[in-house]
Amino acid sequence: MSTSQRFEHSFHALGSEYVTPTAATPVSAPKWLAWNNRLAEQLGWPEAWGQNENTLGTLAGNAQFESSKPGATAYAGHQFGNYNPQLGDGRAMLLGEWRGPDGKLVDIQLKGAGPTPYSRGGDGRSPVGPVVREYLMSEAMHALGVPTTRALAAVATGDPVYRQQLEPGAILTRVATSHIRIGTVQFFAMTRQGKGLEELVNYVTERHYLAALQEAKRLDPTVTHAQVLLNEVIRALANLTAHWQSLGFIHGVLNTDNMLLCGETVDYGPCAFMDVFAAGQVFSSIDTGGRYAFGNQPGIVHWNISVLAQCLLPLIDQDQEKALGLAQTSVDQFPTLFTDIYSARLAAKFGLDAMRDTDRALIETFFNQLEEDKLDFTLAFRWLTEIANDNLENTILEDLFTPSSGILNWLTQWSSRRSQTTPSSSERMKSANPVVIPRNHWVAQAINSAEAGDSELMETLHSRWQDPFSWQAGDEQFAAAPKSEEQVHRTFCGT
Ligand code: AMP
Ligand code: MG
Repeated sequence: MSTSQRFEHSFHALGSEYVTPTAATPVSAPKWLAWNNRLAEQLGWPEAWGQNENTLGTLAGNAQFESSKPGATAYAGHQFGNYNPQLGDGRAMLLGEWRGPDGKLVDIQLKGAGPTPYSRGGDGRSPVGPVVREYLMSEAMHALGVPTTRALAAVATGDPVYRQQLEPGAILTRVATSHIRIGTVQFFAMTRQGKGLEELVNYVTERHYLAALQEAKRLDPTVTHAQVLLNEVIRALANLTAHWQSLGFIHGVLNTDNMLLCGETVDYGPCAFMDVFAAGQVFSSIDTGGRYAFGNQPGIVHWNISVLAQCLLPLIDQDQEKALGLAQTSVDQFPTLFTDIYSARLAAKFGLDAMRDTDRALIETFFNQLEEDKLDFTLAFRWLTEIANDNLENTILEDLFTPSSGILNWLTQWSSRRSQTTPSSSERMKSANPVVIPRNHWVAQAINSAEAGDSELMETLHSRWQDPFSWQAGDEQFAAAPKSEEQVHRTFCGT
């Protein structure tokens, strides 16, 4: 398929150690599951590549965009704390980079288009379930304001994939600021013992953090790309993690290969939003030790950053003592950066102008009470929002959420603290506390329907989750917590 616009291939140009050419394997009977026209418009995606038969075949791997150059990228990573020297895109391929109207480059990738040189015996395919989950979750996260990879399209292949049982297959078209991971740096630093590392670090720093690099160089001409990259990734991941914690999002597999240097959420596997609040909540069936439990996420991201820092040491400074000191100082900043951003988010959620040291007890009591009384995280915060805005009676919240006596008691302390805040703090709560989140039980139902060939519910949910901070008709269903028989307790990677 051709148009005057073309894919670019700047990462591929670094060499075959970074991107190995590969090709999609054709499928029998492609069918649309979803097409994200809003994203296509934002990307300045050619009309000729819109939702038509040619595009369907191309996104299913039966044809190629004229200027694309499919390739699989190399990476390694710590999986549940253990180093795996060679992972790579086993079921994903980069078609190329796309330059949007804003001048920014994004990666366009097919996920599930067949085996690559990194498939290691895997089939390179994806069942419909994980594709539907990633499409819905990533687009809902974007609407919630969380940095994330995006989903441009989802197509069913018409071919079965073999997992525990036969399942229908699908392919996701994923868009990311880039897919370069902490694990990509690890591959060059650890598996290849530094060969090609400097080229990678220069490339990724200049692609994502050029303004920060130029500013840092202006202040100190001796500063290295690696130093700037480390500091910017720390900032981006502190921001990302604070956002997850403020919304009750649990990624599920925070291995170093599932963390992007651009700071976007990636690889929506067994991820889930919490319904009932529990600090130790785990959904993933493979996370038996709870390593990636909700409350552990900030600590794990900090650990992942220390792995990145270690890989960057030889490039931070030629003097290794000095490099170590600089890296340690940077890594040590993560907890403060995270806490500052998270506190600001919490202040917005609780309707406070800013967080004071004395607010810690108030907030801890609230969370403890939610956990003890098994209350819904999202609804509890929206309930506070409507109270603060004198709007409870105009919503259906009282049908959806019944506060416990403990929470009602807590309300007195909260009201007295709130008497010292400005009216704008109440208004701000409305965009900090969503009405709807992509709840597990809805995602599971959309998957069931899509597996049976019906993508209508997927479309309905996608559309509802585009506007998460306002009430809409139908919210007695979409905003409600799951009934006990609807609750999802376990999620699966489906790889
Ligand atoms: P993930 O669970 O998506 O983080 O993947 C971990 C590693 O396994 C990556 O290197 C993937 O590319 C690879 N992988 C996962 N599923 C498949 C599959 N069906 N075929 C080949 N490789 C896969
Ligand atoms: Mg992954």
